Amino acid sequence: MVNNWVDNIQSLLFPGFCLVCRRKTAGRRDLCPGCAAQLPHNDHPCRCCALPLPETSQPGSLCGRCQNSPRPYERVTAPCLYQGEIQRLHQAFKFNRKLAAGRLLSELLCDAIEASNLPRPDLLIPVPLHPSRIRQRGFNQAMELARIVSGRLDIPVDQFCIRRRKATAPQSELTKRERAGNIRGAFAMQKQLMAEHVTIIDDVMTTGLTIEEIAMLLRRHGARHIDAWVVARRP
Ligand SMILES: [Zn+2]
Ligand SMILES: [Zn+2]
Repeated sequence: MVNNWVDNIQSLLFPGFCLVCRRKTAGRRDLCPGCAAQLPHNDHPCRCCALPLPETSQPGSLCGRCQNSPRPYERVTAPCLYQGEIQRLHQAFKFNRKLAAGRLLSELLCDAIEASNLPRPDLLIPVPLHPSRIRQRGFNQAMELARIVSGRLDIPVDQFCIRRRKATAPQSELTKRERAGNIRGAFAMQKQLMAEHVTIIDDVMTTGLTIEEIAMLLRRHGARHIDAWVVARRP
């Protein structure tokens, strides 16, 4: 009740501002209901890797790859597709450090987690960046997302559990074959893992190789349940 009052007063004092159509919004969220409905939602994901499947597929279906080879994680949750306004918001966040866009993307991810009845993990681990990349970009976008998700869902986050020991080339600039070699051995544990159920947090999932590499590392170090929450899946 008190929270509702605080929310109402805050939304009067600081109305939201839709980051898509640039109109004022009634609530505090920077997205109006009309634009929210138009976002590219990942409505038919593979149950395991969240790859978008044809609209005709049954809920809970697996993609061909997940049917044929087991993944080192249990499930990826990716509420959006990496296209249209989601791609635009993500680029504003990642490359121009528009933190309002990052906050909105985190909120979309939290909405999806809250709407699901998936078990909550003991720990969130953001995909680490190599120190040279952090110096270049100024921040780790996965860490920013994890921090907001941690605050809203009340799950601890540990950004120092894993480090990136190889300054890998951006996966998007490589061929399919080069990508696997690029990411292999790129991460190392920095300390003992004190959690059984761990969720990896990232902004966008493309091939899934980064998340697979981290999941295998976590499994070797004692994690029993591993999943991943990402804002968007590239089809
Ligand atoms: Zn709007
Ligand atoms: Zn799959």
